[in-house]
Amino acid sequence: EQKTETRTFEADVSRLLHMMVHSVYSDRDVFLRELISNAADACEKLRFEAVSRPELLGDDAKPRITIAADADNKELVVEDNGIGMSRDEMAEALGTIARSGTRAFLERVEAGKATEDTQLIGQFGVGFYSVFMVADRVDVISRQAGSDEAFRWSSDGKGTYEIAPAPLETAPGRGTRVVLHLMEDASSYATPYRLEGLAKSQSGHVPVPIALVEKPGAEPRDIADGTALWVRQKSEIKPEEYTDFYRSIAGQYDEPASTIHFRAEGRQEYSVLAFVPGSRPFDLFDQDRKGRMKLYVRRVFITDDADVLPRYLRFVRGLVDSADLPLNVSREMIQESPLLASIRKGVTNRVLGDLAKTAENDAEAYAKIWENFGVVLKEGLYEDYERREQLLKLARFHSTASGEGWRGLADYVGAMKEGQKAIFFMAGDDRARLEASPQLEGFRARGIEVLLLTDPVDSFWVTMAPEFDGKPFKSVTQGAAELADVALPENAAKPDAETPSDIATFLAFVKTTLGDEVSDVKASDRLTESAVCLVAPEHGPDRQFERLLNAAGR
Ligand code: ADP
Ligand code: MG
Repeated sequence: EQKTETRTFEADVSRLLHMMVHSVYSDRDVFLRELISNAADACEKLRFEAVSRPELLGDDAKPRITIAADADNKELVVEDNGIGMSRDEMAEALGTIARSGTRAFLERVEAGKATEDTQLIGQFGVGFYSVFMVADRVDVISRQAGSDEAFRWSSDGKGTYEIAPAPLETAPGRGTRVVLHLMEDASSYATPYRLEGLAKSQSGHVPVPIALVEKPGAEPRDIADGTALWVRQKSEIKPEEYTDFYRSIAGQYDEPASTIHFRAEGRQEYSVLAFVPGSRPFDLFDQDRKGRMKLYVRRVFITDDADVLPRYLRFVRGLVDSADLPLNVSREMIQESPLLASIRKGVTNRVLGDLAKTAENDAEAYAKIWENFGVVLKEGLYEDYERREQLLKLARFHSTASGEGWRGLADYVGAMKEGQKAIFFMAGDDRARLEASPQLEGFRARGIEVLLLTDPVDSFWVTMAPEFDGKPFKSVTQGAAELADVALPENAAKPDAETPSDIATFLAFVKTTLGDEVSDVKASDRLTESAVCLVAPEHGPDRQFERLLNAAGR
């Protein structure tokens, strides 16, 4: 005859529970994610077992997770019809920690070194125990698939737990029911709208449908349908499905400009479903420049704060679903994981590759993308040194030769004049004013194209002395413009043949007249019509950059 047993938690569990309440997770919402994740795992395990033992499913073949709220009693229930647990399994799963390395990990946490050691925390699950962040008593009633017995586990998380047989009529027909008696300050977790919001945003894409029972006696209402779009074959997904998904994940109502869906296999396994929006998201220029890619681990949402992409790709919306990252890691810690670093690299390369492909195959579509997001992408020119060349290839500019269209650097270089050694640009706030500048006269006369840079960000990357295809970027306002190297066309108006001594006398006169107002006065090939213009020194900030620095009070 089996009866109630009181057992002591394994020492490590007690330590873990203590830690749970005091430190590891700063965000209590995650307990629901952990419970749903366990429920979904249980359903997936049953799904797998039933392949060889279909009788396990009985007449209840459809997996399901039910969340039931009882606000009056401050109770919350998460129930599944998955594989369930036997008595021994319960004691094992909810009383010990199976994973190795736990003790070492705990010691480090207790020594205050947890955040340095992200590898260790990933090696064991702390999922279930997170319920004690919000509940002062938890009951788990479970009936294993194929068994005619049920058991009840109960604990306040303070050192001991009880296990006792449970009458079948109080247990789920199959699977596990977790009942949380919520703490006073966590009672809002029993309100239906809070639960629905959390379940959808954290676990809306777990592969098991989720229903919500809003109060005792109410009918269950479906809140998530259990299909994860990104795990399906690309060829089986309709464009409308992608669009719907894009809208729900991006909160936009337009069509995506580009859809990137792939699965990486090999050293790391992950799926990516990402979109370049068809218009600018409203938060694109927020101060914090946060990305909005979501991170999933095996279809369980982890965080949208993982910086899956570099900041200059923050306009991309979507998700990464990793098969290898540990599920039970706090957000802060996942950020540091070397696995994530390698995912970040892979996804960044794919997104840039996709942009390059669009640029090559559909110039019009790419021009739209560039108009919306070029300003943001250009931040990468000074933030991502390694990919600068790649980003320069993606960059588009207005120029003295582009008309209303955009000009890529490959085309610019292909059209360089004989003797021309640099890529010339002029930076300013306003394109029309730039085009009217006398600085351009000598370039125009020689048919040399000049890029017209009008975004504030331009002044930052051009000062990092980038090169493209071996050609340096050079401001037309800066020093001697190397114009003499390029011949004037035959029919151009030739300057009068002043003698060098005339020029020297004139320069000396101007210098004395202006005194300290200028650092130097030089003869130059840059003008063909105007008599004089102001230029910046050869070394030092270009004129536009100087203005920006002045505006910033430097
Ligand atoms: P993990 O999910 O990483 O294994 P958890 O702490 O979340 O760690 O859960 C511990 C164990 O408890 C699980 O591995 C599983 O064996 C068992 N368990 C928890 N919830 C359920 C459930 N709803 N159904 C069946 N088993 C469960
Ligand atoms: Mg778990």
